[in-house]
Formats: sequence, structure tokens, C-alpha cells
Amino acid sequence: MSGAEPIPTIGMEVHLHLATHTKMFCACAVEYDAPPNSRVCPVCLGMPGVLPVMNRKAVELAIRMALALNGTIPDFAKWDRKHYYYPDLPKNYQISEYDQPLGVGGYLDVPLDGETFRVGITRVHLEEDAGKLMHPEDGACSVVDLNRTGTPLLEVVSEPDIHSAEQARAYGETLRQLAVYLAVGDCNMQLGQMRFEPNISLQIGTDEKGRPRFTPISEIKNLNSFRSVERAVAFEIARHRQEYEDDPDGYTLERLGKSTRGWLDDREETFLQRSKEEANDYRYFPEPDLVPVVPDRKWVDTIRAGLPELPEHRRRRFIKEYGLPQYDAGVLTADREVADFYEEYVRSAANTDAKTAANWMMQDVMRILNERKVAIAEIRIGPGDVAEVSDMVVTGTINRSTGSDVFAKMLESGKSAAEIVEEENLAQTSDESELKAVVDRVIAENPGPAEDFRGGKERALGRLIGQAMRATGGKANPKVVREILVRKLRG
Ligand SMILES: [Zn+2]
Repeated sequence: MSGAEPIPTIGMEVHLHLATHTKMFCACAVEYDAPPNSRVCPVCLGMPGVLPVMNRKAVELAIRMALALNGTIPDFAKWDRKHYYYPDLPKNYQISEYDQPLGVGGYLDVPLDGETFRVGITRVHLEEDAGKLMHPEDGACSVVDLNRTGTPLLEVVSEPDIHSAEQARAYGETLRQLAVYLAVGDCNMQLGQMRFEPNISLQIGTDEKGRPRFTPISEIKNLNSFRSVERAVAFEIARHRQEYEDDPDGYTLERLGKSTRGWLDDREETFLQRSKEEANDYRYFPEPDLVPVVPDRKWVDTIRAGLPELPEHRRRRFIKEYGLPQYDAGVLTADREVADFYEEYVRSAANTDAKTAANWMMQDVMRILNERKVAIAEIRIGPGDVAEVSDMVVTGTINRSTGSDVFAKMLESGKSAAEIVEEENLAQTSDESELKAVVDRVIAENPGPAEDFRGGKERALGRLIGQAMRATGGKANPKVVREILVRKLRG
């Protein structure tokens, strides 16, 4: 049976480096800028006769992530050897968890375009990373850096609940946000701390027994940016559609199984690496040198109790509790420290409401963070300082644009808003008689716009207000100026 529109059906495997100081099974430091092959020892080099020792912190972080993904922690997880031969893997096997992972089940709710979709989590398990193979330009030989060998790697495997390239990207972004919120990993994409492997297939109607039929599964290896995830998935969906159209009977999962593909970023296309990959190719067997992980229930409960409020929950709470639009709530909860800062700001403000505070965060505080490429903890002013300056605007001591200037000066000097306003005589003028004189002068000097406004052109008023602001060095209260102008021109 065919005829129905094919439905993209995508699962995702995500690898991320855990935020540990040392490697998974030895005491070597995890450092990204160390000289090549300087953070290695007999264990991570796979010398004969050495014994791995499990990193407890890595297990804790993995459990933390699995719990935050609403998964369960089985009583027993086991280590296995996954064999393959490659120059970046000196042991010729990787220690992983094959059939009894640390975390099982769960889900992640992913916001996209004002709605949320749910992606089921199949499993969360721990393994170790391989080294880095490099192919220098001169082409004389390849070189390997084994500093990365043995770095604790968390793998999160999702159910095939993703149905578009945009969803694939949003899932990756939301998972990254969660890992960073939990301090499970730094997830710096440039450093290769997070990598994505989407599995793509199209559901193509059902067979005679009503079971869904699929195009072959293609797994794209090692994508390391959200942009490449979105583009590679879009490319594969289009390619599957075409292949299926060309050969509806032959291009099926039953006939062709699963293949792995690479992604060429510059050409924006995938290419075939291996077809028909099977689990037994890896000759998995239990790791004889490590005892199984039997997490103590009390320990798991302690980790659960230590989970912070998760980003999606916080986003919804910001909408409800502070009355923020979806957009503002999304921006303010994307980073945990920014969200903390905002909440402290709202608490310490005497006159600034939550929405006005959100505007200050986005227009002033976060703009500076973006310009300077710094984290919020690195700027020298706190939530109470921002509250001070925005309160001065709300109560009319200074106008809004002076407020932004004062904020910038607070950052530079570390002085309080009150000090700067006092020193630089920035307090705004609401004095009617003083402003009336200014307005009279502005009207006399700008007969054209004044006449336009009298004739009904509302926009001309903005120009006159601008002139009055300039005449007072930005200190006039624009609301009062507007009132006087309208009164004088419209009588
Ligand atoms: Zn080592």
C-alpha cells in the first residue's frame, strides 16, 4: 500500500563530554589545549596489563542527566567492550554499556515555534571517547593526538519521535541547554564536546497487515553544529523521497537495512560510508576488568533531590508567574545564570514591573553580554544595580534613554546609578515652566513640522519632541514635553 505522504521518522544519538576533571578510567586530566599526547598514561594508551578504575563523578553526572530526562536508573548497569580497529583507538576496543545502560526511558519536551513536542528517550549510557586523528595539509602522513582518548562520554539515544529537520535542530539545542543547566557538560561545540548522529528514515504507508513500512535507515555520523544537523537531515529527507519515488519496491528498510553516511559541510551533502552495519560487527562482550555499576538508591535519591529547576519548567513558570510573552521567557531562561539574575532583579526592584525588567534584561544587560562575549557573572554589576537604574526611570527621575547611558556608565565605572546621575547632573526636567520655554523656542525654530502637526500629521510631533530633547541635553521628560507641545499646537 502506498500513496500516503511519506513521514520523516528520525531518532538521534547525541554524544557529549562530561564536565569531569579527569578521564573515565584513569587519572589523566581532561584538557582541551594541552600539547598533543601530553595527557596520557598506560591506562588510556591501552598498554598491556593495566586496569581501568571507574570515575565516580562521571557516573554521577550521567545519572543526573538521565533523571533530568525523566528516565529510570536500573539497579545494575554493566560495562562492555565494543571492538573496532582504528588508529585513534589504541586498545582496539571502546568501553561502553551495551545491553544494560545506566539510564532507561524518559522523555524531553522541546519548544519550537510557540509549541512543544515530546521526544522519547530510549537510553542514556556512559562510554569513553577515542583520540583525534588529523590529516595535515602537506599530506605526508596522518598524526594522532590521544589526549582525548578515555574522556568520559555520555550518549543519549532518542526514540524516532522527530519528524522534520527543524525539530532535529530544536531537539539538539534543547538537549544542550539541559546539559549546560545541569552542569553535566560544557557542550562547547567548537571544542567537539557535543556531537550529533541522526538516524533518518521515511515512513511510507503500511504493508498488507497494516504494519508501517520504512525507507532504509541512514545514520549521519559526527555532526558538530546545529546548522549541520538541520541541513544534513533536510538533505537526507529529500534524498530518501527521491530514492523512494524512483524505486518504491526496492528502496525499503527490509531490503536495504541501515547504512552510515558522512556530511560534507562545504558541499552540503551526505555521502555513503558503510552499508548494512550490524551490532555483531563489534563483537560486544562484558568488560572483565570492571565491576558492574550498582547505584546505591540513597545516592540516586540525593542526585535527584539536587536537580535544579529545569529550563522548560522555568520557561513556563516565567510566562505564568511574571506574565511574560513566550519570546521573552524563552530568551531569559536559555541560560541558567541569566534566569537567576532576572529573578533576583525582579525581587530587588521597588518600582519596576516584571515585563519592564525583562525589557531591561534584553535591551541593555544581554546586549552588553553579546557585544562583549562574556557571561553574566563576569560583568561588574548585579541585579540590584540594574533595579536601581530602572526604578529611576520608572519613577521619572531620569528618562529611558538616559537610563541606558547610566547603565553603560555603571558598567564602566562600577559606580551606582544615583552617583552617576548626581555627578553628571542627568536628572530629568519635568518642570513645566522651564520646558514651556524650550517648547516655545522649538516651535519658533521649526515652523514646518509645527504646521504639519497642526494639519494632522502625527509623525511631525516626534521630530519636535526630538528637538526639545536635544535642546535640553536629553534631560527633558519626554512625556511632559509631548503634553506641552500638543497643548500649544492644538490649543
Ligand atoms: Zn590516562
